[in-house]
Amino acid sequence: MTTATNTTGDTVAIGPALSALADRLHGRIVLPDDPTYDQDRALWNAVVERRPAAIVRCAGTEDVQAGVRFASEHEVRLAVRGGGHNVAGTAGVDRGVVLDLSELDHVEVDPTARLARVGGGATWGQVDAATQVHGLAAPGGVVSKTGVGGLTLGGGIGWLRRGHGLSCDNLVAATLVAADGAVHHVDETTDPELLWGLRGGGGNFGVVTEFTFALHPVGPDVAVALTLYHGDDTAAVLGAWRSATTDLADEVSSFAICGTVPDVADFPSELRGEPMTLIMAVATDATDRDHRSVRPFRELATPILDLSGTMPYVDVQQVFDGDYPDGGRYYWASLHLPTLDDHRIGLVEEWTRRRPSELATVDVWHLGGAMGRVAQDATAFGDRSAPYLLGIEANWLDATQDEDNIAWARNARQAFRAVSTGRPYLNFPGFQEDGEVALRAAHGDASYRRLAALKRRMDPDNLFRLHQNVPPS
Ligand SMILES: Cc1cc2nc3c(=O)[nH]c(=O)nc-3n(C[C@H](O)[C@H](O)[C@H](O)COP(=O)(O)OP(=O)(O)OC[C@H]3O[C@@H](n4cnc5c(N)ncnc54)[C@H](O)[C@@H]3O)c2cc1C
Repeated sequence: MTTATNTTGDTVAIGPALSALADRLHGRIVLPDDPTYDQDRALWNAVVERRPAAIVRCAGTEDVQAGVRFASEHEVRLAVRGGGHNVAGTAGVDRGVVLDLSELDHVEVDPTARLARVGGGATWGQVDAATQVHGLAAPGGVVSKTGVGGLTLGGGIGWLRRGHGLSCDNLVAATLVAADGAVHHVDETTDPELLWGLRGGGGNFGVVTEFTFALHPVGPDVAVALTLYHGDDTAAVLGAWRSATTDLADEVSSFAICGTVPDVADFPSELRGEPMTLIMAVATDATDRDHRSVRPFRELATPILDLSGTMPYVDVQQVFDGDYPDGGRYYWASLHLPTLDDHRIGLVEEWTRRRPSELATVDVWHLGGAMGRVAQDATAFGDRSAPYLLGIEANWLDATQDEDNIAWARNARQAFRAVSTGRPYLNFPGFQEDGEVALRAAHGDASYRRLAALKRRMDPDNLFRLHQNVPPS
């Protein structure tokens, strides 16, 4: 007999109802005894293991409607899966139902209107491939395998952030299945408040079956600085990088990654395993043919390796794909920094040194530009004023090292808290263990209250509760 846990924690029999649901679907339902169950339930982050009662592999909006109505009627715990890459594993749920959107992965580009209509389960790699055919791009993240869904609903910080804003800033319309199963076509005219909430307010308001993004001319080739400096020079490199990011042109976005030269063939054998500070900067100005805009990032100290040059934008989007394999173990935390002074640089050095795994990194993202100029109340996204974002990335492979790695990341976050704005970026949320405190800090009080009111209108029973959950006010 198939059972599930309902929202009040009781066990309920759902077998006959699931059979009836299966009859109505164009897609299929995967149950625990199905040979593909383990593959279908697996999340990118292997630390988070979930065993759903059923996985509904949706083939279209009607399937999403049927799945939402099923979960609502039977009050079973519901997870929504876009690309499955949330570090907290919010795309899975024990003894509940997962709506898997991965088959909703169409990307339709209108080059004249400069718009892309993107399925709710597509990945950024699919979007980049389809849009770059026309020399256009929608701002995504910096890894192509992540899902459009979770990244956009949480904000979306990528290489186009300073030139064209966040992913959520470029979201101009969405098709959404609400908690009652109704389909909403959301844009600035039909429902501006819901569009506001989808721009950074997380998965609170329903299942987005299609996102519409504004596109911008980008590439196909862009200028890239990709320069490795020795870890012994971290303080000097970050100090010089701070200067290079002051008064920087909008079309240049950059970050610093402090860690270890990976043990892979892309790097000379004598460098592998050495401490490094990697600086990557991407300039999207097509007129900058001699790469003047990224040159300073290659001259911050004496490089140990310089891989800079002209790269196709689609390749830029895949530079880090290999560093984050499916089934690795991860815990990522974040805090915005009001400045990057020598004291904060010292903390970056210290916590880089204290990493329990060679795969872990301490990252600093330079923000501002277009993303910083969007009015704070124009979207539900949190902090736009901070010039830097700290990312603490515990990455490791061995389950026996879970405790050490998670403790390191939590302790590092604690050490930085006093010198940060106190506001995290919700797409790097740890395991969401800070709950409402983190959400209030990230959104700010006014936006948090507005989100709670919108939640009351859209989802009064809090069906969509696993991702950045703002309970209905
Ligand atoms: C390797 C890697 C690189 C990353 N790089 C970046 C980066 O450069 N910039 C950045 O900003 N972030 C980045 N992130 C963080 C990323 O934004 C989040 O992990 C995000 O949640 C991933 O979205 P997803 O759809 O793959 O995840 P999922 O786990 O599928 O989704 C997370 C939650 O979002 C909601 N959701 C997803 N799709 C939908 C939908 N269609 N409708 C309604 N709700 C939905 C669901 O509640 C779901 O539980 C990265 C993450 C990884 C793992």
